[in-house]
Amino acid sequence: MTEAGAAAGRVDAAGTAAAPARIGDLLVVRSRDELAAALSRMPRPLGLVPTMGWLHAGHRSLIARAREECATVAVSIFVNPRQFTISADLARYPRSEARDLAICGEERADLVWAPGLDDVYPPGFDTTVGVGRVAQPLEGAARPGHFEGVATVVAILFGLVRPDRAYFGMKDAQQLRVIARMATDLALTTVVACATVREPDGLAMSSRNVHLSPAQRAAAPVLHRALEAGRRRWESGERDAGAIRDAVRAVLATEPLAVMEYVSLADDTTLVELERVDGPALLSLAVRFGTTRLIDNEALA
Ligand code: AMP
Repeated sequence: MTEAGAAAGRVDAAGTAAAPARIGDLLVVRSRDELAAALSRMPRPLGLVPTMGWLHAGHRSLIARAREECATVAVSIFVNPRQFTISADLARYPRSEARDLAICGEERADLVWAPGLDDVYPPGFDTTVGVGRVAQPLEGAARPGHFEGVATVVAILFGLVRPDRAYFGMKDAQQLRVIARMATDLALTTVVACATVREPDGLAMSSRNVHLSPAQRAAAPVLHRALEAGRRRWESGERDAGAIRDAVRAVLATEPLAVMEYVSLADDTTLVELERVDGPALLSLAVRFGTTRLIDNEALA
């Protein structure tokens, strides 16, 4: 049995679903039926924190916020194949369920849903969520199909868990907008946006940081420094979007290990690129260090 399987009720060798596992006060469920049974006994309001596991302080902050605001806190842990556009990325996505469950317990979550593939996508699965304009630029352009995959799995989560509130990080700024739009348009739930948690040197926490070599890790805070340089230009009164983007690019260019993919300064709501910054805007970037791709952003508002 794997480390994860040993931690909580997996499907056993005969293929029968083991009973839900309790780790301290935390209930861990696998199947849709187990989830429904557990939820029916839990008080409302219910807050949901969707994750792909390999939990860090960013995820902790979402769970802690849900804990403050909700009678029941549910965390989902599922590495969603449909949102990966490069299969090697999916294969090397870091996983450690035992560690994740310990973190959920520490943050006083009530329930973890850690489903298998078939629990999320039933046999014959044939329905996807179409995403609109806000999903097209930036990450949507760089990773075709990514947001359809995200929106589809999140819609399934919302359908099964029926959360009163769902917590998402501003670290993934475009994802937050895509999900918030979907939640409003399809009348699904209330989406709560949570601030980005950073390492002391400014690097945004991310499950992908584990893939950085020591030299790449040392270089990676350049993302935040570059965004800060852009913010300072804006704070000093610059309103020409091109000049602000150039300030960001100039800082990125000082770091030889950083390969810039895009620097964007876009309308905060629509994510359409700006010529002038006359209202709330989102400054965002994607940078590669070897095969590891990092994103970060800063709201100018
Ligand atoms: P993931 O497990 O990467 O899919 O992330 C699950 C949730 O945690 C998403 O809503 C992310 O935006 C959020 N998240 C990831 N990293 C951070 C961070 N550094 N600060 C705050 N939230 C984060």
